[in-house]
Amino acid sequence: MGKQCPAARADNSGHAIVNSYTGTQSVPEAQERMKIAIVGAGAMGSLFAGYLAKTTAEVWIYDIWKEHIEAINKDGLCITNGKKSDRVRLDATSDPKVPGIADLLIIFVKHADTRQAVQDARCMVGPSTAVLTLQNGIGNVEIIQGIIPDDQILFGFTTLPSELLGPGRINDSAGGKGATYFWPLTGEPNLRIKRIASVFNEAGIHTEISAEIELFIWKKLVVNCVWGTLSAVTRLKVGDLMNLAPLLIEGLITEIVHVAQTKGIALEKQTAWDFLQKVGEEGRDHVPSMLADILNSRKTEINALNGAVALEGERLGIATPFNSTMCGLIKAMEESYGKRLS
Ligand code: NAD
Repeated sequence: MGKQCPAARADNSGHAIVNSYTGTQSVPEAQERMKIAIVGAGAMGSLFAGYLAKTTAEVWIYDIWKEHIEAINKDGLCITNGKKSDRVRLDATSDPKVPGIADLLIIFVKHADTRQAVQDARCMVGPSTAVLTLQNGIGNVEIIQGIIPDDQILFGFTTLPSELLGPGRINDSAGGKGATYFWPLTGEPNLRIKRIASVFNEAGIHTEISAEIELFIWKKLVVNCVWGTLSAVTRLKVGDLMNLAPLLIEGLITEIVHVAQTKGIALEKQTAWDFLQKVGEEGRDHVPSMLADILNSRKTEINALNGAVALEGERLGIATPFNSTMCGLIKAMEESYGKRLS
């Protein structure tokens, strides 16, 4: 991650550019209808599909969860927010061959399902398709790189939250308040990439193309590795654990910052700490997805969070006892769901 190839030719002339996906000259058609396929349409994938369906883009949902797909095809996707409820008509399928080649794939499966999902979705990827991951944590990009050429990959994150209520139903918990950031894995943003951001903005998903993406991702990683993992272990909401275990929190942050800085990411400890406190204060009632996974006896994304920090630490010769321990604890919990005492 973070490799920078020579920039695609600057596009600020508004004329022909070098397409960084194919290397060929092309003039992007402003009115061309963008075909977007969401790969993994649970809470987040359905949220993005619902917003993007408001634009002129052709939006497809691809998910292996048949009941969800059938519900969407029958009654549309139901999106609630407080007392409001919307029904959005969408094309949904559990056969990745149905949508055909897309202009953009958005990967929204959980970390553990990334390899299988991207391999299966490969039939929707042509030489000009951009593949965007907005998944949490680190390590997803590397998995995608094993399947998709680097110059077709975009990576980033979103602060929008969403909750799955049942087949065909989600809760847009923040009513669209939040932001989405991404950046191409290689090269500079070209017109096609800017067009993706503009379709997102048109949909009401506040989006920026940001060169600071790695720093943002690592700041969010701190939040997930501290509040997410601690809340999963203690079964407490973020607000109830903020003042507990200060030494543990300090240890986790110190290790993450050390690993980030060694990778060349300018994450300062104070910045990480301030961001963590701010997110904690703003989301005191929040149930992090790691806690939701544990409460529902599901596999968590620990391997993309504290587990990924520990792995990066090992690769770089940095000891990460706090993150390794949290990773070990969560894995032990995942492996023993059936044996728990209540
Ligand atoms: P989710 O479990 O609600 O949805 C994942 C979907 O992927 C499921 O519907 C599942 O059936 C589908 N899936 C699994 N394997 C598949 C495959 N091989 N092919 C196609 N579909 C497959 O998860 P989510 O909460 O939407 O999270 C998705 C990602 O977004 C995660 O990385 C998460 O950390 C991140 N994220 C979540 C939130 C949130 O508020 N939920 C916020 C920001 C980021």
